[in-house]
Amino acid sequence: MSEPLRADIDGVPVPTGHLIGGEWAGSADTFETRSPLDWDNLHLADIARGDSATAAAAVTAAASGFEVWGRTGVVQRAEILHRLADLIDDNNDEIAQVECLDMGFLEKSMRLRLVARGALNFRTYADLIVAHEDRLWNAKGMTNVVQRMPAGPAVVITPWNAPFMLSTWKLAPALAAGNSVIHKPAEWSPLSAALLAELALEAGLPAGAYNLVQGIGAEVGAALVADPRVRRISFTGSPATGRLIGKAAADNIVPFTAELGGKGPLIVFADADLDAAAHRAAWQFDDSGQVCLAGTRLLVEDSIRAPFLERFHHHADQLVLGDSRDPATDIAPLAHPDHRRRVHDFVERSRTAGDAVVRGGRPVDGSLHYEPTLIEPVSNDSEVVQSEIFGPVLTFQTFEDEAEAIQLANSTRYGLSAIVYTGSRERAERVAAAVRSGLVWVNTFLVRDLTAPFGGCGISGIGREGGDYALDFHSDLKTVMILDDTTS
Ligand code: NAD
Repeated sequence: MSEPLRADIDGVPVPTGHLIGGEWAGSADTFETRSPLDWDNLHLADIARGDSATAAAAVTAAASGFEVWGRTGVVQRAEILHRLADLIDDNNDEIAQVECLDMGFLEKSMRLRLVARGALNFRTYADLIVAHEDRLWNAKGMTNVVQRMPAGPAVVITPWNAPFMLSTWKLAPALAAGNSVIHKPAEWSPLSAALLAELALEAGLPAGAYNLVQGIGAEVGAALVADPRVRRISFTGSPATGRLIGKAAADNIVPFTAELGGKGPLIVFADADLDAAAHRAAWQFDDSGQVCLAGTRLLVEDSIRAPFLERFHHHADQLVLGDSRDPATDIAPLAHPDHRRRVHDFVERSRTAGDAVVRGGRPVDGSLHYEPTLIEPVSNDSEVVQSEIFGPVLTFQTFEDEAEAIQLANSTRYGLSAIVYTGSRERAERVAAAVRSGLVWVNTFLVRDLTAPFGGCGISGIGREGGDYALDFHSDLKTVMILDDTTS
């Protein structure tokens, strides 16, 4: 097997090329990845910049890989995915270190939560495929059996904001279902995907079952989703790209899932544990707000406006902005200078439109941080209320009663997640039922069972990931009907 070209990322050797058919390959062109921890000085690597020929080669390899992997029994598939999960755990430090430098993610969060979650994603799907039983029943004088067939090569496209965790979350069900994959990670944070591809080879995935293509979305990404040999497209990213991918999928009649943006409400009722709610609200600045699930629209019952804000500011004041490698840091820099510019442009337009910036609202000098920002909009139609900013910018609005809270919660085109704080079980159930979103957390946030469905309504997405929902998506379901008196 060819030895990959590698970049030295603070002592961790990371392949810089594509993995195609079990071989590492480069491209004539490259793109650079720099570290948000020290943008001007920390060039990390030059990464192969795939083109349409790279995409075609990867799909050819995936088609061959599918012939082997799609026929591999579920027990053997599960063993390999468990081995991959173990290797992820064994390489926790290296993955955490590389992702922290590449994307700016807090190293402590990577070590404690996200790398472990990556391993858990593979274990969950390994266990699910072994536990799966074909559905079987008798009707109309026949035995009916519903079976899952692996669908074929699947393209998996991931965003830059939680690269390792999201890649594992999307690749695990595709591989468990028996599909070969071509992974295209985001160009702003391509490095942890290369570590994952190496571990996949080491775990024993056959050549071509797991392919990695690096490059720019509009170039190699667009070529991958346009290839008619691809039988599934699993995408996480922005609504704008989701639309383009949907068109490509329609052209080839390929099922696709799209996990897109969010603009979740965090609703606080007067009967809630006020301090817990305010603390949760301040922690929506976590990961510098680069979280699709974040509750970025604070909706607070009018009667508790003043005490809520006092506690919110108290908790926000405790957040430490700093170097993502430092365990004392709570808030990391934004991932890219272009993104920080985009976040600041939102805030500047908001100021100009007459919204009140009551906290923060400026880039931090000397780093890519942005001040944790709170805005009281003049109207629910304000751009900062209606559009995903994807930075540390929250809006604050009040409501008179439950009906108004629900009306405000449902007033954007998004519908990914909602967070509700209340002391009443009845209210919790009523509001959860009335909110239009794929996920609702009551008095808690983020934690969920991985077998539950995950996805959004409205422009937050199409389809559901999680548990059997993702396995069904990655399979062609077949119904077999055998006449009862068929003899052997
Ligand atoms: P993006 O849409 O710009 O890019 C996502 C991926 O798509 C990247 O790998 C990119 O290279 C690729 N891409 C871009 N153009 C393409 C094209 N024409 N064809 C094929 N691929 C193409 O999104 P982003 O800025 O990387 O990510 C941020 C967005 O992702 C936010 O909207 C965020 O809310 C969303 N997100 C959603 C979830 C979720 O689970 N719903 C999770 C994380 C992030």
